[in-house]
Parts: sequence; structure tokens; C-alpha cells
Amino acid sequence: MSAKRSANKLNEILPILEEPFLIAGPCSAESEDQLLETAHGIAQTRRASAIRAGVWKPRTRPGSFEGIGVHALPWLVRAREETGLPIATEVANAQHVEEAMKYGVDILWIGARTTVNPFYVAEIAEALSGTDLVVMVKNPIHPELGLWLGALERLNKAGIDKLMAVHRGFFAMEVAPFRNDPKWELSFEIRKEWPDLPILCDPSHIAGRRDLVEQVAQTALDLNLDGLMIETHRDPDKALSDAAQQLTPADLGKMMDRLILKREEVTEDRTRQFLADIRTRIDAADERLVNVLAERFGLVEEIGKIKHDNGITVFQLQRWFDILQDRTQQAQLKGLEEKFITELFSVIHKYSVNRQTEMGRDSE
Ligand code: PEP
Ligand code: MN
Repeated sequence: MSAKRSANKLNEILPILEEPFLIAGPCSAESEDQLLETAHGIAQTRRASAIRAGVWKPRTRPGSFEGIGVHALPWLVRAREETGLPIATEVANAQHVEEAMKYGVDILWIGARTTVNPFYVAEIAEALSGTDLVVMVKNPIHPELGLWLGALERLNKAGIDKLMAVHRGFFAMEVAPFRNDPKWELSFEIRKEWPDLPILCDPSHIAGRRDLVEQVAQTALDLNLDGLMIETHRDPDKALSDAAQQLTPADLGKMMDRLILKREEVTEDRTRQFLADIRTRIDAADERLVNVLAERFGLVEEIGKIKHDNGITVFQLQRWFDILQDRTQQAQLKGLEEKFITELFSVIHKYSVNRQTEMGRDSE
């Protein structure tokens, strides 16, 4: 089954006031005054194309601030009237969608804790069916591409064409210094599957700390993502949710001034030639890499056969430890990161073991 995947380009979905496209606003709407003051501060930077504010807040632990709820929607409407910017909020069920639509909220987003649940996504898609709203889908909490794509597809099938993905990072046990592991490769996968779909980055939820937001935002731009969603609060330290990661509107403006927009096309002939040369060498190096891997897997098949014929177990723990120790030592001498080599050899080893166990099965 090939799912329907229509999509509009970002500038067909929303007017882009300034590059890079930016949605900014507090994690949560806390009071009318807090939202309006923050929204005005953001509008003054002239950087943002939309204002965000969470009204229903999915919280990991009970007892945390769970959002003002429907009473905050008129504040968003006022923020739009006073700044002229479209407004965005998170919805987690059909009732939220209906309430938000009553107030004419322009952009809805599905949060990371909702994208994981196809029942909720289906319910939201149904509530949205036949409308012309802009809908953003944050990646699910854990790095499962199918859930992220599935949510986008479900909405698309319900007739929502103004879709965007939001990359907000993934839960991991150890992600220091970040709150969430970026796992940028998941965005590349989305782009491969659905090339026209705009993908925003939410550096606030990846970083989790305001001093790291800029670094993540710059990486997102370097990777050619289409825009940013950044949590902004008039007084971040006093925020009722996500206090550590929010910026003041003034700091947001300064940060946006410092970010460097990269271009995808190269116009200068000389630069183009440099890039072409290096790419040719990278292609050649990759070809050698593939040949070496093919050679290694040939050897794996040989050893697999001997193990099988002699009743020896495929996986041998000590051998695996020796490989890891030896390869990381070699790699360090070449200036390669230990973590990179460990991860790379874990994948190579996993497929080597799989191949050998398959051989065992094939010959039975
Ligand atoms: C948010 O944007 O405030 C939010 C709750 O995000 P996420 O769903 O990415 O955790
Ligand atoms: Mn938040």
C-alpha cells in the first residue's frame, strides 16, 4: 500500500516574514498578561512568523502545571489581533481540536506524547477532516520513524495538506548535555520518504537548556531544515513549565541575528569545483568502504560455516570485547571518536551475527 503523501511547500502554508522561518512563544500560556507581553516582545524582534503557546500541557509527572485549558484560547486570539501573527497551540484529542477551531487557532500541533498513539492521532485526524488548518506533527518520544510518518499520513489522508513535521529530539537514557537526543538521521529519513514536507526543528526541547538552544538551532539550519520553533517567555526563570530552556524575546532576537543561514545551491564556480572534487574523493572512499565490508562479510560467511559444521556458538562474548577494544584503539590513533567506532562496529557485528545465524537456519 502506498500512502497518499501530498504536501505544500512552507511558503504555500504560511507567510514567511523573515528567514529562517520561526515560530516563537511560551511553552505554556500562563496568564493573559504573560502571553501578550511575550508576544509583543517576539513581534518586536520581527523575526517570527507565528506565535506559539501551549494551552493543554501533557506532563510527565502529576502535580506539574497542566495548562490553563480552554480559558487561555481568547488570550491567544488577542495576541494574534495585537501582533498580526498567526497563532499555534498543541492538541491532544478531538475535543482540543474542536475548542481550538472555535477560536480560529491557525496552526495546531500534535505533541511528542500524542504522536506515539495512533488512536489519538486517528481521533484528531477525524476531528480535523475537511478543514484547512495548518498541522504540525512532532516526532514521537522514541525514535520510531513509522509512528512519525504514520501520524503525518493519517492527517494527510483526512485531507490535511498543510502539514509540517517538527523535529524535537528523542528520549534517551543518557543524552548529556542535551535533554533529548537529536538523532538527526530521523529527519533525513522523513525527507527521503516525503521530500516536499517542511520540517521544522524545535531546538528548545532538544537542548533543554537555554545556553544550548543556539547551537542546536544552528545545526538544524546547517542540515537544511526548514525553520525553527523556539520557546520564548517574558521571564523564563519564572515559567510554569520548561523554565530552563526558554529565552527572553530580546535574547531570541539576538540569537536569530547570530544564526547563519546556509544555502543549498552553490553559485560560485570555484566553490562548486572544490565541492565536486571533494565529493568525487568521498565517492571513491565510500566505494572502498563498501568493498571492505563485502570482503569482511565474505570472511564472516567462511567462519560461520566452520562454526556451524563444528557445533560452535555463533556469538562469542570475549571475541566481541576483543574486537571492540582493538578497533577503538586503532580508531583513536587515527583521531576518530571512540563512540562513533563503537556504534559502527556494533552494527557491523550485529549483522555478522545475524548472517551466521541465518546460515545455520538455511542449512537445516
Ligand atoms: C511543547 O512544545 O511545549 C511540548 C510539550 O513539546 P513536546 O511534545 O515536544 O514535548
Ligand atoms: Mn515545552
